[in-house]
Amino acid sequence: ACSGCVTSAETVMLEKQSLDEFLLNIDKGKAVIVSLSPQSRASLAVYFGVSPLQVFRKLTTFFKSLGVKAIFDTSTSRDLTLVESCNEFVSRYKQSQLSDDERHQSSLPMISSACPGWICYAEKQLGSYVLPYISSVKSPQQTIGVIVKNHVCQKMGLRPADVYHVTVMPCYDKKLEASRDDFVFEVDQSENNENEGLRVPEVDSVLTSGEVLDLIQLKGVDFKGLEESPLDNMLTNFNEGHLFGVHGSSGGYAETIFSYAAKVLFGREIKGPIDFKTVKNSDFQEVTLEVDGKTLLKFALCYGFRNLQNVVRKIKIGKCDYHFLEIMACPSGCLNGGGQIKSQPGQSTKELIQLLQAAYMENVLVADPFGNPLVRNLYDEWLEHPGSEKAKRLFHTEYHPIVKSLTSQLHNW
Ligand code: SF4
Repeated sequence: ACSGCVTSAETVMLEKQSLDEFLLNIDKGKAVIVSLSPQSRASLAVYFGVSPLQVFRKLTTFFKSLGVKAIFDTSTSRDLTLVESCNEFVSRYKQSQLSDDERHQSSLPMISSACPGWICYAEKQLGSYVLPYISSVKSPQQTIGVIVKNHVCQKMGLRPADVYHVTVMPCYDKKLEASRDDFVFEVDQSENNENEGLRVPEVDSVLTSGEVLDLIQLKGVDFKGLEESPLDNMLTNFNEGHLFGVHGSSGGYAETIFSYAAKVLFGREIKGPIDFKTVKNSDFQEVTLEVDGKTLLKFALCYGFRNLQNVVRKIKIGKCDYHFLEIMACPSGCLNGGGQIKSQPGQSTKELIQLLQAAYMENVLVADPFGNPLVRNLYDEWLEHPGSEKAKRLFHTEYHPIVKSLTSQLHNW
C-alpha cells in the first residue's frame, strides 16, 4: 500500500482522534454529513461480500441510526473536478502553443492534483520546478467540501459552522489534505453574528475505509443484515440500481481529459474506454492521439513512487514529452490506498486488488461527467460555467514549496 506522507505513529493517533471526534460531534448536535468515496465503497463491499450499491444503502441505514443527517457519494464532486480539469487542460494546451514571450505560465505537462501523497512530496521535495505544472483544480474530497459547506448548507437551511462534514476515503493523506490552511474559509459575517470572523474547514474530518469498519465493529452491528435505506439524492447521481462513474480507479483524469481534448482541440471523437499501453510496468501506461504520423496528444498514468520519481526527473531536465500526467502515489492507485481494509488471512495483495477493481465497477454505468445532471445544475444555479471566476475562487487552489528546516537539511546532507 501507499507510503504517503503520514507515518505509522501518526496513523494510530489520527485513527483514535477521528472516531472520537466523529461521535462527539453527533452528540453535540451538529448536523453531521458524510460523503463516501467509491474506493471505500468497493473496500467495504469486498470485505462484507455484498455489492457496492448495497454497501451504500446499508451505510445510509447505519450512519442515520447514529444520527447522521445525510450521506452522499463523491461522484458528483469528482465529475465537477473533471469538468474543471478538462477546461484547465485546454487552456494550458492553448498557452503552450504561444511563443515564449506571449506565454505567462509553465503550461505543460499538466499534472493531476487529486493525490495528497503526491502533492506533499512535490511541495517538500520538488518545489518550483514542478509545482507550476500541477493542476490548480482541488481534489474531489475538497470539492465536495466546498459544495456541502456552501450550496448544500444553503439548500438545507443550515449554517456552515453548524455542519460537521466527514468524508470516507481510502487514504490517511486525505486527513492532511483536509487540514490544509488553503481549505478553510471565512464564514460570511452576515450569517454569523455571534462568531464574527469564524473560519470553517471545507472538510471537518476524514475517516478511512478501515476506520468505518472499526466503527461498525465498535457498535456491534451485523452489517450484512442491515436494512437497505433509500439514498440521499441531492448530490448522488444514481438511477434504478446504478451509480454513475468513470473508467479508472483513481478518478479517471487522464481518460476524461484525453477524450475531451481530442474532441475540442482536434475534432476527434473517441468512443469507448481508452486503450492505455503499458510502458515499463502496469503502473506506468500511456496513450497517444496520432494523426498523419504526428503526435497530437500524449498522456500517461503514473502510479507509485518509483514511477513518479522517473517521470519527475524527466520534467526537471526538460525531457518530458507528455501533455498530461495522472500521478498517484500508491502503486495501483487509490484502490490500494493505505486506509483501505487490509487483505484477509491467506489473501494476497494482488488478489485483493483484483477483487477491489471488480467491485469498483460493479453497479456502475460509465457516463460522461459533462452529462451529469447534478453537475449541470450546479453550474446553472450557482457557478455559471466551467472556469468562471466563481468556479476559480471556490474550486481551484495553489501549492507552496515547503522550505526544509535546518535540521532536516542537515539530516539529508
Ligand atoms: Fe491517497 Fe490515492 Fe494518493 Fe494513495 S494514490 S495517497 S490512496 S490519494
